[in-house]
Amino acid sequence: MPIINRIADYQDELTEWRRYLHKNPELGFEEFKTSDFVANKLEGMGLSVHRGLAGTGVVATLSSGDGSGKAIALRADMDALPLQEKGSVKHRSENPGKMHACGHDGHTTMLLGAAKYLTETQNFNGTVQFVFQPAEEGKGGGKKMIDDGLFNLFPAEEVYGMHNMPGMNVGEFAVAPGPMMAARDNFQILVQGRGGHAAMPHQGVDPVVVGSHIVLALQTITSRNINPQESLVVSVTQFHAGEAFNIIPDTVLLKGTCRVFDKELQETLPERIRLITDGVALTFGAKSELTYHSGYPATINTKSQSEFCAEIAQEIAGSANGVDLNPVPSMGAEDFSYMLQERPGCYIWAGNGDSAGLHHPEYDFNDQLLAVGASYWSKLVEQRLSKAS
Ligand SMILES: [Zn+2]
Ligand SMILES: [Zn+2]
Repeated sequence: MPIINRIADYQDELTEWRRYLHKNPELGFEEFKTSDFVANKLEGMGLSVHRGLAGTGVVATLSSGDGSGKAIALRADMDALPLQEKGSVKHRSENPGKMHACGHDGHTTMLLGAAKYLTETQNFNGTVQFVFQPAEEGKGGGKKMIDDGLFNLFPAEEVYGMHNMPGMNVGEFAVAPGPMMAARDNFQILVQGRGGHAAMPHQGVDPVVVGSHIVLALQTITSRNINPQESLVVSVTQFHAGEAFNIIPDTVLLKGTCRVFDKELQETLPERIRLITDGVALTFGAKSELTYHSGYPATINTKSQSEFCAEIAQEIAGSANGVDLNPVPSMGAEDFSYMLQERPGCYIWAGNGDSAGLHHPEYDFNDQLLAVGASYWSKLVEQRLSKAS
């Protein structure tokens, strides 16, 4: 596959960097050693490096050319997951209960590889912001970077992201305009009944029965309230109640998550869930209390940036067949979505080969992808900030 030759020559070095990061995973907003490593490498390349944005975030700026070019941002995530690694690789995690199970070690290394190549070659006209963000896994580090002034301090007209994808061959990509990943909201429902002796249910209000009806009624949001051609998941994932065989508990606590692509539909969900929970509770003489947290928005690629990235991916893949231009969007969520709300841009999936799935304890980032990803980033910059244009 046509990766950049000069980057192919970095393979051993990039592999060493990636395995160091894999051995030393850190959770969101605690990427202290990781950001030290990243900043030291970038400074070693001679880049101007800003540390401490969103706590452990790192941004490096590289400008080249006559000053007439535009600025774009490339983003990698740095955090690991709270998971005990089960794989047998030599470079497995040395931090118990923490693991790079989503490949952010690889994402960080691919962007470092591109920074190295672009600094050495400078075959572009414009500015590249290399953005290394903390806390992608559920803690919204991307949003915090924006809130802390990412695009004011480091101006960029467009923003680009990449995630590895197990099950797709290394060297293959998937990208499309529109939604790539879903929005994710979480909710919690406290059902207040009236507990008592299990042998005399008529004397109380059984919140277990009420909670069960709520779980079932919530399924009708997807099956009966939304257009069947739209996508929505409402999952109740926790049901906490009671401690004894013979006692009806006083309360039930339900927790769950919603996944959705459409913003307007997303905005209707808290009210719909509230109507159902209040109505069902009322039916049985119980009370309910809903707490709804809006989480990451949907990750939505803009059209022209997505089409441009598809062309770059096809060059790297070596053929049009190597790029899936119609991937099924994932119901997972991604906080790069916040950056795409601020700037036009594109998020792409890059094949990680036949590895275990993301967030699996035997997952490992495929080192063969390092040069592929770094080449994608570098070609993207050289063509988006082309000297000729
Ligand atoms: Zn993940
Ligand atoms: Zn991830």
